[in-house]
Amino acid sequence: LTVLGLESSCDDTAAAVLRRAPDGSVTVLAERVLGQDAAHAPYGGVVPEIAARAHAERMDGLAAEVLAEAGLSAHELDGVAATAGPGLIGGVMAALMTAKGLALGAGIALVAVNHLEGHALSPRLTRKLDFPYLLLLVSGGHTQLVIVEGVGAMTRLGSTIDDAAGEAFDKTAKIMGLGFPGGPAVERAARAARNPERFDLPRMLTGKPGCDFSFAGLKTAARRAWDALEAPGDQDRADLAGAVQSAIASHLSERTGRAMDRFIEAFPQASRTLVAAGGVAANQTVRAALTEAAQARGFELIAPPLKYCTDNAAMIALAGAERLALGLVDGLDAPARARWPLDADAAARDPATG
Ligand code: ATP
Ligand code: FE
Repeated sequence: LTVLGLESSCDDTAAAVLRRAPDGSVTVLAERVLGQDAAHAPYGGVVPEIAARAHAERMDGLAAEVLAEAGLSAHELDGVAATAGPGLIGGVMAALMTAKGLALGAGIALVAVNHLEGHALSPRLTRKLDFPYLLLLVSGGHTQLVIVEGVGAMTRLGSTIDDAAGEAFDKTAKIMGLGFPGGPAVERAARAARNPERFDLPRMLTGKPGCDFSFAGLKTAARRAWDALEAPGDQDRADLAGAVQSAIASHLSERTGRAMDRFIEAFPQASRTLVAAGGVAANQTVRAALTEAAQARGFELIAPPLKYCTDNAAMIALAGAERLALGLVDGLDAPARARWPLDADAAARDPATG
């Protein structure tokens, strides 16, 4: 099966061509990602209108480029897969419309992919990995713990009740006058931290049952700490960055530890694998904290290579190919969805998500 994948749900425009062999092994034939950090940097966050316009301008050209690089024309594909949600609706439309045009024009199958399913399957782009496994998805828009039992079979154990982990990095970076995106800037600044303990930041939800996350209190505390400083300088910035980073890392690992315990209860015979995906999984302090929690429970921590941790189209093409292999295709009326929870249970509880 050869599939073109398209992604434009946040601030990256991406296209990839992937081939899936009957044994399930995959080869990425071509892939491109166009970021928009420079366009959004002046605003300290992603501006939906700017993102949507950039995606619309670039998506068709990018799809043509990866097809040319793979040496294929559209009618040689078995299908085209596009992220159909969740995400910024104007952006989601760009990939979905391009995909529908190609599917109609070339007479190939359309697959409407849940972006989160793409992230959930992303570790399988570079290695063999059996179901079930536990996924921690930590990006700019999502913070969730999910048991991945198979394609279309995911159970969410918990998610953030306010900000996403990446958002917590981005917002606290903005408070301290560090650049956007905030995660890498905080990590860099924190290297010079000498005394992060001088800031007493809250350890969110510690000891509370369940696997949900919360970051809003941390952001508020960081703002208060920063505002209380008189003429803050680089050392203050480094120390507060270090304090914020450890607070986020310990919150993520504490909640993920609970999820690992639940995974063991649900699948006592399964091999114990924790996958960390999303931009925040690139953070070394976060990885170290997760590794410690994983080792304590006999789990192996796997993080996809960085380019597949963040938004990319190869993971969308993979989800599309896996669905096609199961005979799952979508109609040309497939809607773009701003919200689209991964697990069917949540979708049933929340009719607004269609
Ligand atoms: P989505 O949420 O839809 O998946 P996104 O573009 O917001 O999309 P990613 O591209 O996966 O998400 O990740 C971007 C986020 O990851 C940003 O919030 C960024 O600050 C954060 N991030 C990136 N690198 C690091 C790092 N080294 N440390 C901490 N956070 C990081
Ligand atoms: Fe994403």
